Amino acid sequence: DPTMRPDPLPEDADDTRALRPQTLDDFIGQKEARANLRVFVSSARQRGEAMDHTLFHGPPGLGKTTLAQIMARELGVGFRMTSGPVLAKAGDLAAILTNLEARDVLFIDEIHRLNPAVEEVLYPAMEDFELDLVIGEGPAARTVRIELQPFTLVGATTRLGLLTTPLRDRFGIPTRLQFYDEDELHEIVTRNARKLGAPADDAGAREIARRARGTPRIAGRLLRRVVDFAVVEGDGRITRELADSALTRLGVDSLGLDGADRRYLNMIGVEYQGGPVGIETLCAALSESRDAVEDVIEPYLLQQALIQRTPRGRMLAHKGYHHLGIAPPTRGGQ
Ligand code: ADP
Repeated sequence: DPTMRPDPLPEDADDTRALRPQTLDDFIGQKEARANLRVFVSSARQRGEAMDHTLFHGPPGLGKTTLAQIMARELGVGFRMTSGPVLAKAGDLAAILTNLEARDVLFIDEIHRLNPAVEEVLYPAMEDFELDLVIGEGPAARTVRIELQPFTLVGATTRLGLLTTPLRDRFGIPTRLQFYDEDELHEIVTRNARKLGAPADDAGAREIARRARGTPRIAGRLLRRVVDFAVVEGDGRITRELADSALTRLGVDSLGLDGADRRYLNMIGVEYQGGPVGIETLCAALSESRDAVEDVIEPYLLQQALIQRTPRGRMLAHKGYHHLGIAPPTRGGQ
């Protein structure tokens, strides 16, 4: 069931517009990142300059795109959005760059997936606001330099480790986004429930927050599903009982883990007796891509201390055994 995956789905688009926070003050959580951004935005505004290039990294659904949009709004500049895989040729990026107005924000999602030829174009653009274009072919080819308007590149990635060093070094403001705690998600759920016209009582909102895998995108989706149950089977209000029964029917367990998470834990815990098991072996056994496992499944399980990453592979942690309700193997001599 894709409901529980933190990657964007087409169905998110509609109410994302209504529910997305519009200002830094509206944005809940990520306290440190927000405080820093506030300073950099104010400084850029006062100096009348483009803000420094900013890189957001962290698991999907934590608010990277939202923060980039908020930055543009607070800077009072235009916002352009694209993504690494969409920019197939150097010319695709050049076309966007030459159309930017002074101090605009250009957001590139999944920036770790830029093709190397496109990335080459980005270096002088980021550093000197210049574009070197090759015109013509063969012996007649020549390079022309085009001056660009100063702009702010905001990159987002779920995999900092896959960024090339030269690209990474060109971001003045690298910012890591963290999973949200229960209180922050509680506030987000309460606010969004009100916006959706289905008020949640304190315990109802908390139940959804507790089971949202630390991720606002998932909190939003679970809330919508619970609202469906509240409308059809209740009186439209979200209580703890209603949230609990709806989430349980959706296959979301007490920690907020879904089927794919539990399959992953069971694979290590049961099939591999707790591990260690190498990442390649594990992905093959699960028939999942390494990207899906490393970007989407593992970060939350690690943060919750359900698993451990060791040099010899992944292992189930004590809390993982407890959650699955199985006993840790007794290891010889220990
Ligand atoms: P990312 O770009 O990191 O994948 P998005 O910025 O697209 O994440 O956010 C995913 C969803 O979560 C959006 O619907 C957004 O409105 C919501 N969201 C993210 N962060 C917050 C927040 N701090 N407060 C309220 N809603 C948030």
